[in-house]
Amino acid sequence: LGGSIARALARMKDATVVDEKVLADCLNEISRALLQADVRFETVRDVKANIKTIVNLDALAAGTDKRRIVQKLCRMLDPGKPAFTPSKGKPSVVMFVGLQGSGKTTTCTKYADYYRRKGFNPALVCADTFRAGAFDQLKQNASKAKIPFYGSYIESDPVKIAVEGVDRFRKEKCDLIIVDTSGRHKQEAALFEEMRQVSEATAAFDQAQAFKQSASVGAVIVTEMDGHAKGGGALSAVAATRRPVIFIGTGEHIPDFEVFDVKPFVSRVLCMGDLSGLMDKIQDLTEGAFTLRLLYEMFQNLQNMGPLGQLFSMIPGLSAQFIEKGKEKEGQAKIKRYMTIMDSMTQKELDNTNPKLMNESRINRIARGSGRLVKEVVDMLEEHKRIAKMWSKLPINNIRRPNSRDSL
Ligand code: GDP
Ligand code: MG
Repeated sequence: LGGSIARALARMKDATVVDEKVLADCLNEISRALLQADVRFETVRDVKANIKTIVNLDALAAGTDKRRIVQKLCRMLDPGKPAFTPSKGKPSVVMFVGLQGSGKTTTCTKYADYYRRKGFNPALVCADTFRAGAFDQLKQNASKAKIPFYGSYIESDPVKIAVEGVDRFRKEKCDLIIVDTSGRHKQEAALFEEMRQVSEATAAFDQAQAFKQSASVGAVIVTEMDGHAKGGGALSAVAATRRPVIFIGTGEHIPDFEVFDVKPFVSRVLCMGDLSGLMDKIQDLTEGAFTLRLLYEMFQNLQNMGPLGQLFSMIPGLSAQFIEKGKEKEGQAKIKRYMTIMDSMTQKELDNTNPKLMNESRINRIARGSGRLVKEVVDMLEEHKRIAKMWSKLPINNIRRPNSRDSL
């Protein structure tokens, strides 16, 4: 799927004439990917319209628009409002809302544990009196993470428990009191029923909208990012609440919790690899020379198809050498040989930009150190020169340096 986006973008880049049709094809690919990633239809429509207005057909030929498209997505994921963050020593109360089974109880503990590691004094309150076993579940999680908790087996009024729990932990000088809820109110039986029915079929937008009406949403946590890789729910949730996503849940256990970072996320949704790393790298590359060290990194990336590897594979003439279909084995062997040779180089040699540095004695030393023939070392150095020359001609080198706000 992501491959298809990458291909569409590459096609767009390669096309000698980029016209409305090429652009439309590309946008359709992206839309398809977003829809499959669980992004709500209306959001995809907006994304598409937005991208269309920012894409400058003249700039497409220069190959810069992949970046702009991703930038646009990043901006859409950043509602421009700061997320709520607790401050140490100042009591904060955070309530978790979400549909049943969406991961509130699990995430509460992850959230508490995250802040405890940062030196906070968190506590958990179970105000879910709706689901049988809700308190036991929270109790178990909290005990495992060694976080103080409060709840009741007999009290049926969630408001009462929440108030009691918060009061108690305030007195105990807890600075982050987390209230777990059942996620819906009894008075809203109709809404709940409706949500239950749509919960399976719909994206996060509907859930987030519904909850925004009854509680002020400070921030969004997207759970189960490990699951079907349907990260697009985050985009919908932000569109619905205009609140930022702050964390993502990546598994059932307490440490399966990550601070949300827009850029890698967008790349993940579009399956284009870690573009933020790539853009940083491109900046390095365009600012300096194409050193042996960069070649080494490219090879490393190529092996695990990291961002540089993807870029690398787009360089005409190189893909033929190293990753051509049917010749993968030879390509891999060559990469391995080159990397072995580079492993015997000094830092100075790897970062070198002076064409005169690599003299006979250095080449002999490298050959000895790597157990390779002198000729193989020379071949590798020639190859590096060839690649560096190709690299300098790539349109990617024309990308202007983005300012920090724009940067990926
Ligand atoms: P609640 O009803 O909203 O409180 O949801 P729970 O916290 O009880 O979670 C429902 C199920 O989802 C449980 O089996 C959790 O272990 C699981 N779960 C929660 N968060 C994640 C996550 O990030 N990844 C995965 N794979 N499972 C999760
Ligand atoms: Mg729960």
